[in-house]
Amino acid sequence: MTSRPGQASLTPGSTIGVVGGGQLGRMLAYAAHQHGYRVAVLTGGEKDSPAGTVAEIEIAAGFDDEVAIERLLAESDVITWEFENVDVAIADAALRAGLEVRPSGKIIATAQDRRTEKTALQAAGVAVAAWRSASSESELEAAVHELGMPVIAKAARFGYDGKGQARIERMDEVAGVWRRLGSQRLVVESVVDFERELSVIVARTRLGEVADHGVMENHHVDHILDSTVTPAHLSAERTSEATAIAARIAQEWDLVGVMCVEMFDAADGLIVNEVAPRPHNSGHCTIEAAPAGQFEQQLRAVVGMPLGDGSCRPAAMVQLLGDLFLEGEPDWARVFAAHSGLSTGSVHLHLYGKHEARKDRKMGHMTAVGDDPDNLLDSLVALRQALTGR
Ligand code: AMP
Repeated sequence: MTSRPGQASLTPGSTIGVVGGGQLGRMLAYAAHQHGYRVAVLTGGEKDSPAGTVAEIEIAAGFDDEVAIERLLAESDVITWEFENVDVAIADAALRAGLEVRPSGKIIATAQDRRTEKTALQAAGVAVAAWRSASSESELEAAVHELGMPVIAKAARFGYDGKGQARIERMDEVAGVWRRLGSQRLVVESVVDFERELSVIVARTRLGEVADHGVMENHHVDHILDSTVTPAHLSAERTSEATAIAARIAQEWDLVGVMCVEMFDAADGLIVNEVAPRPHNSGHCTIEAAPAGQFEQQLRAVVGMPLGDGSCRPAAMVQLLGDLFLEGEPDWARVFAAHSGLSTGSVHLHLYGKHEARKDRKMGHMTAVGDDPDNLLDSLVALRQALTGR
């Protein structure tokens, strides 16, 4: 039925083993099922997880549970990730078991630590903000002196959504920031004066085929992605610079899979902020906006099939956070009613099946596809507001 990876592509009927049980795995599972593949997920412990409720096999155990890892490997024909902050020992075990890991454990490990990430980005020849690493309060102070204020200090490992970060504007803040960030290894960066935040989601196959979805323009609220429009408000030249940067990183890092490259559009050029070695919420609009969205591209790359057409129609996306549920279930009927009511396009609701809504927790998103991304975004923002307008 299935062929082992390496030379041949994995045919439909094969099982994709996914590390992580969140919404990214859930949407990968939709794409996999559409194409006849099976999915096994290792959730990290959660039962009835967003991905696990959709997958054929949910292994509700910790990422360091050796028995659970053995089971994932036994069930799977290839391993991929929907969550990267895990011990890459899983990748080593997979290789020992004769399974390909896509993207490689090396890429996952590189992206887990902002120092190795920035070093590898610079080695790939792309611009990053001026930075220093600091492992003590005095090193932090020296880094701030060298870079000049303001700076942003970030936990080197396992940071996301702005967690473990602090801005330093005055020298007398250094000691407090060092304590507040937990006295751990930091990366200290110059603050970039940017016009807009961008991302490029790029897919690459083992044969070196590369495809992107154009450039996403992202708006964050409290460090969490709130909305995306595509195409970004960029010149044609900057647009191709941005996609070329993403392709270059994918090539230099020998990516097999999908990766999101987040960038700042600054006056003197594009500066890469960070990389996520998996699909990304800034790419959710690709599901409806492109013939082959980011999860389909992930599937294609991971099983060794050619990539699809990732080019996007104009689109917008708004994230639905747990905050929307604070006064009870949002009024979803309004979204269903809006499906054909948008003057400029159609609206698509995605809910991730999470059992408990918490503030800042990503519960779902809405996408609209049409002609003018800014109009689409306005409609989605109004619709999101109406969800709680009882
Ligand atoms: P990160 O966790 O690195 O994605 O940072 C979260 C957010 O903080 C980014 O989306 C930016 O809005 C902001 N930020 C991070 N690093 C910098 C920087 N060097 N200069 C300016 N803003 C930054």
